[in-house]
Amino acid sequence: MTDWNIQSRSHLCQACGKPFVNKQTYHTLLIFDRHELTRQDVCEACWTTQFAEGAQDRRGYISHWVGEYQAPHAETPDPIQKETAETLLRKLVEKNDPQFRAATFILAVMLERKKLLKVKAQLKEDGGRVFVYEQPKTGDVFTIPDPNLQLTQLEAVQRQVAALMEGGLDAPEPPAYLVPPEQPAVAALAGASEENPK
Ligand SMILES: [Zn+2]
Repeated sequence: MTDWNIQSRSHLCQACGKPFVNKQTYHTLLIFDRHELTRQDVCEACWTTQFAEGAQDRRGYISHWVGEYQAPHAETPDPIQKETAETLLRKLVEKNDPQFRAATFILAVMLERKKLLKVKAQLKEDGGRVFVYEQPKTGDVFTIPDPNLQLTQLEAVQRQVAALMEGGLDAPEPPAYLVPPEQPAVAALAGASEENPK
């Protein structure tokens, strides 16, 4: 099974090396090969001349999309601000601890519903599904395996997520959470979490 990981968007074209400028259009090519997901971010010119033709026939081709580069601006982190679902997700993905696998997935689903993450692709590996999510602002890509949650487990996972949101990852360890890989309950999630329309 693929490790969870984060594929950050490059700040320069990975073909010609020119730095991206604010609002520049870039192309991302996602390849899954030898159990590894790799992304390439290239400028329009390089895409057209070197990548566009036959892109989909490349070995391991998963997806291609066009994005608009947003230059990072210095955001002063608010020290009193509580963990947001998004900062928490990032930490969980980096931590890659199996006991948080289900919680990570639930967080991603929540963020997707709030349009803070987009599903870009879906892979199958070792019989399991892996979702590729993009954070549209930073362009970062997260890979998150489907834990095949069962309905009966949802409540416990949601409690774990709430505890993590409240206390962060440094909170006392929640009980280890084991996921028997049986019935997927992704569809059931739709009705299970609070709706929060803007
Ligand atoms: Zn280029």
